[in-house]
Amino acid sequence: MSSRHVFRFAPSPNGLLHLGHAYSAILNFDLARRTGGRFLVRIEDIDLGRARPEFEQQIYEDLAWLGLQWEEPVLRQSTRFSVYEEALDRLRALDLVYPCYATRAEIRAAVAAKTGDWPSDPDGQPHYPGLWRDPPRTALLRRKAEDAPFALRLKIDAAMRTAGLDPGAAVAWQETDGQFTSEASARPADWGDVVIARKDIPTSYHLAVVVDDAAQGITDVVRGFDLKPATALHRLLQTLLGLPEPVYRHHRLILDDRGEKLSKSRDSETLSALRDSGMLPSDVRRRIDLPYEIMAPE
Ligand code: GLU
Repeated sequence: MSSRHVFRFAPSPNGLLHLGHAYSAILNFDLARRTGGRFLVRIEDIDLGRARPEFEQQIYEDLAWLGLQWEEPVLRQSTRFSVYEEALDRLRALDLVYPCYATRAEIRAAVAAKTGDWPSDPDGQPHYPGLWRDPPRTALLRRKAEDAPFALRLKIDAAMRTAGLDPGAAVAWQETDGQFTSEASARPADWGDVVIARKDIPTSYHLAVVVDDAAQGITDVVRGFDLKPATALHRLLQTLLGLPEPVYRHHRLILDDRGEKLSKSRDSETLSALRDSGMLPSDVRRRIDLPYEIMAPE
């Protein structure tokens, strides 16, 4: 087995890349170069309603403009639904998922009816209020007979027990800052009974990312700090699915002039707009202030 490090940049083609993406992509690329490792690009296009071929094309153009080279062929998640289905089958066989037929409005109403503080997940969404966790058999049979659409949710407490852990326990992973590796940890239970396959898509970000990181032999997951809480869930899924454990590096986020995180939804300045305004790749490297001496790729 090769001991080369394998890095990946995994954008979702549902918008144009901005400086935050440039930071992540360049960091992964440079780390691969410095360690004699491999650099992969993975297109995370499971959200068929939002992914667009023109955004995917623009991603390749932006990365090439930044001076990055990656291995071909690029893995596109939209071609891998049957692989995600196999992972779901494994979770089903462990009795760790259940169908949830609730609509968003029903979930909102059930949460609103809760008295006292109701927990939210790290993305700020209220925990699932359990509507279909233990439904009457008749209700389940009726929905099945109607062929009603459903999401699959993870029985988070049972999943933790199956992994040999206490439901409220934290799971640990190796977190590196490039120099030192230490143990980080977080509680998967902070996500509640998270959706593992969506109603409209037969997988979820969490499932697809752990399946593909393993399939591609990713040794180092280098991504934004905003995804750090999700790593607890990813580690749990890796354990349940018997997948290897990568090392993680959650890097800082690039902020705009008002100190806010750049995002596609906030219409942050895109790399193509910066390029059109005359910015050079070397200016991008200076502007994002990488955590090491600035070095242009050869
Ligand atoms: N596709 C995710 C995004 O664009 C990144 C996933 C990851 O790096 O784990 O935010």
